[in-house]
Amino acid sequence: MSQKYGKVYLVGSGPGDPELLTLKARRLLDTAEVIIYDQLPGKAILDSMPESAEKIDAGKYAGKHNLPQDSINDVLVEKAKEGKMTVRLKGGDPYVFGRGGEEAEVLVREGIEFEIVPGITSAISAPAYAGIPVTHRDDTSMVTFITGHEDPTKEESGLDWETLAKFQGTIVVLMGVKMLKRNTEALLKYGKDPKTPVALIERGTRPDQRVTVGTLADIAALAEERKVKAPAITVIGKVVRLHAILGEQIVDAKF
Ligand code: SAH
Repeated sequence: MSQKYGKVYLVGSGPGDPELLTLKARRLLDTAEVIIYDQLPGKAILDSMPESAEKIDAGKYAGKHNLPQDSINDVLVEKAKEGKMTVRLKGGDPYVFGRGGEEAEVLVREGIEFEIVPGITSAISAPAYAGIPVTHRDDTSMVTFITGHEDPTKEESGLDWETLAKFQGTIVVLMGVKMLKRNTEALLKYGKDPKTPVALIERGTRPDQRVTVGTLADIAALAEERKVKAPAITVIGKVVRLHAILGEQIVDAKF
């Protein structure tokens, strides 16, 4: 490992409520020389990045219309090789559908030291703020996380909808807004109960969080009616009933 390279920290920001940042994430953000971020951490956390750091918007850097991942990898490597202490800030947890694994592999290949700083994933915390525990003794002891929007360059769906339709546990879908209709239709086609409760949680843990509850049969229409937009988590399964009992957590916007 070359001494002159800077260390890279792959840091999870949590779902958006800045008080859900870990202490380690806060310390690293406050001491970073370079922060490479995208928009997913949300305004409150992005606004808290210190003046002193060089800040690079990964989205803008890569240009809006092409696949940005290679350019993000390039800039990470470039900054580390300049000897800078670099934070790569990612929404939620870097290793949950965050492409953090790919970035870490590149760093290893380039001989750059790195550390992973897990964050609170939106997959669990957005449902929690909506009053939905992803497991509950009375309902299910299983949960699975899937992406609703797969790599568009992939030829075949990597998701086995037939197996998912039979799965009795909670299904949590990330990146599921665009393909909601197609995905709910796939589950129905393979025999999942149309009355299965479904919740959509937009901007979970942020002051403008919004929850939409329906069933597998009507959630796509409801989402269209209410103009549901990303980022949103979809929860499919019996535990969604708890939303009515536990209620939505009002997001405290003191920050
Ligand atoms: N690494 C992230 C997920 C990145 S994939 C994590 O662990 O949370 C991007 C998807 O995350 C979005 O499409 C959305 O489904 C979900 N997401 C991230 N933050 C969210 C939030 N505050 N509320 C709802 N969904 C969120």
